[in-house]
Amino acid sequence: MSEDKLKPIVSLCKRRGFIYPGSEIYGGFANTYSFGPYGTELKKNVKDLWWKTFVQQRRDLVGIDGPILLHPETWRASGHVESFNDAMADCKACKARFRVDKIIEEQLGKDVEGLNLSELSKILKEENVFCSKCGKKDFTDARHFNLMFQTQMSKTDLENNIAYLRPETAQAIFLEYKNIVDTMRVKIPFGIAQIGKAFRNEITPGNFIFRVIEFEQMEIEYFIEENTWQAQFDKWLDDMKAWCNLIGLKSDNLHLAEHPKEKLSHYSKRTVDITYDFPFGTNELYGLAYRTDFDLNQHQKFSKVSQEYIDTVNNKRYIPHVIEPTFGVERTILALICDAYEEEALENGETRTVLHFNKNIAPIKVAVFPLMKKPELQKVSKSIFDDLKNFWNVEYDETGAIGRRYRRQDELGTPYCITIDYETLEDFSVTLRDRDSMKQERVKIDQLKNVIAERLKG
Ligand code: ATP
Repeated sequence: MSEDKLKPIVSLCKRRGFIYPGSEIYGGFANTYSFGPYGTELKKNVKDLWWKTFVQQRRDLVGIDGPILLHPETWRASGHVESFNDAMADCKACKARFRVDKIIEEQLGKDVEGLNLSELSKILKEENVFCSKCGKKDFTDARHFNLMFQTQMSKTDLENNIAYLRPETAQAIFLEYKNIVDTMRVKIPFGIAQIGKAFRNEITPGNFIFRVIEFEQMEIEYFIEENTWQAQFDKWLDDMKAWCNLIGLKSDNLHLAEHPKEKLSHYSKRTVDITYDFPFGTNELYGLAYRTDFDLNQHQKFSKVSQEYIDTVNNKRYIPHVIEPTFGVERTILALICDAYEEEALENGETRTVLHFNKNIAPIKVAVFPLMKKPELQKVSKSIFDDLKNFWNVEYDETGAIGRRYRRQDELGTPYCITIDYETLEDFSVTLRDRDSMKQERVKIDQLKNVIAERLKG
């Protein structure tokens, strides 16, 4: 359980163009990151596979792409304006800011869920809690800090012209529930899926991209009849586990954590987290919540627009209940990289760093190398690249020693490398190298595409 174990991963992510610290030339901007070229490919593969799995390949789900800025009334109805808060306190000596529950939990091992501000302030004053930055014991009282980012709008009918950047994608889905019912011929049970940005003004810093202030969620609101909620919940838990398996996360690193009743969010009757053994500890990767009919009821109340579903077959009208599977994109990426990372001791005494990404999500599937920068080798290599690029994301690389080119692709998690050498000009074969076993074999150029296609499937 150490942050040190994360260091080589953070360093590889920067060195190899997966993830860069945000606004680095200005000295950085806390808890923001940029995805570099390979990180962007990886993220895109994850999102595309998720969309294919949950939207395109299912008949009971449809997808939307809603706005980040929603009518501010949305957040009053959802309860976020009033209760999407963390209790925080500042160290008077060094001005560091802390989430009070976290610092008490870390230092005293106490669970303070449900305590009010004055009870938390009392613990800070009377018990052995110190600033984890400067070591002093001089805190302000605990006070609430709303996690929603505010922005100013020119619309004059808004209270103080304030709008919020959405802290979850879910509400954008609830606002379109009625349009989907009216236009898409959906029948309960059905779901609406969305992938998009969410923003949270998090106080507790990071662990790299585990907790950031701007992140993406892949979320589903699944609308059901109340009496089916338990069966639907179980089904979704199975579907979420199958997803983890599909992207190649090792099952030993995954666990389930049932939220105890007293810790459930205001809208939830049951929540189970899928947790992952990150290098800094076991933490929430995904969540599955039974949100009841809370959100649609609230929106009906605040908007005065009926959110009832009319079941014409059974002649019933009701407000649907909701099961919500939610998947964080950044946490998926972090888990995938941690899971795939290996410093492998080779027989010759060297160590190679390799990312054993599942072939489904690897940013580059094949790399093509001419053994040397010679026109006759470059010509064949480029024609192989031009052919294969129609099927996969393929990289062409002719720079540096061949061994170093292999090592670079190992660190990018590329499953296959192809090398074109002088023998190729005679026998029309190339060397195909496997990332995991490092085995090399000769394959005829005209069979290359089929051989790779077959292996990428497996
Ligand atoms: P945590 O307890 O870690 O703050 P949460 O329970 O508030 O998370 P949810 O509100 O359930 O998280 O959000 C759904 C998903 O969005 C999470 O399972 C996680 O994958 C992702 N997520 C939430 N907050 C962040 C964040 N600050 N940075 C990155 N991903 C996040």
